[in-house]
Amino acid sequence: MRFLKALKELILNTLFPPVCISCKKEGDFLCVDCLKNLDKKKIRSNGRKIDDPDIHYLDGVIYALDYAKNPQIQAAVKQFKYRFTEELAEYFADLMIEKIGELNMAKKRKIILIPVPLHKKRLNYRGFNQAEVIAKVIQDRMGNEAEVIPMLKRVRHTDQQAKLNKSERHKNLKGAFILNKKCIHEQKMYTKNTIYFIIDDVFTTGATLESCAEVLKGSGFEKAYGLVIARAFR
Ligand SMILES: [Zn+2]
Repeated sequence: MRFLKALKELILNTLFPPVCISCKKEGDFLCVDCLKNLDKKKIRSNGRKIDDPDIHYLDGVIYALDYAKNPQIQAAVKQFKYRFTEELAEYFADLMIEKIGELNMAKKRKIILIPVPLHKKRLNYRGFNQAEVIAKVIQDRMGNEAEVIPMLKRVRHTDQQAKLNKSERHKNLKGAFILNKKCIHEQKMYTKNTIYFIIDDVFTTGATLESCAEVLKGSGFEKAYGLVIARAFR
């Protein structure tokens, strides 16, 4: 299967050479120059509690970049979500792994990656869950250190968050997630020396991650952090 996948990629890349999503240069989905120009400085994403009255359960969010300062990442995230370009997950995963490496709290601990689930309806429509794709690449790259466990399920189809304001977003997601019963035994396998990251693409109001964290905390998880590509400050 791996071989077939590689072959398919080779054929596609020969017929349709990748083009940089940001500057349109041929060769890569995000070219070396655009990656070099990422604004990674001055971000303190050490997973401290978020200063927001609407966030109670989420213990912090780790993000690789400031969304507003990195138009190339904005373009890449949009492309990844709506016109599936699987390769982009690799760039995102690399940025996120780099951040994990900077975190003291993740050192010498098993990292469990919990992708924000999509509702079946949306999954059927889109064909993939972008958070899960990124989480799987992180798992592949980190080997034994990280593992994807789909501990959450989305039980309610919600309106597109993008159209809503902050308080509407929080309301919209109340009760949208439950614990995935199939994974409860796996949750018990890990207690100490484990860190849980809920994986999403962009952190905007935090409503999605907060709603996921609420379910995890309600099920006995001590801490739940978010790990995203970028944070959009509002
Ligand atoms: Zn470029």
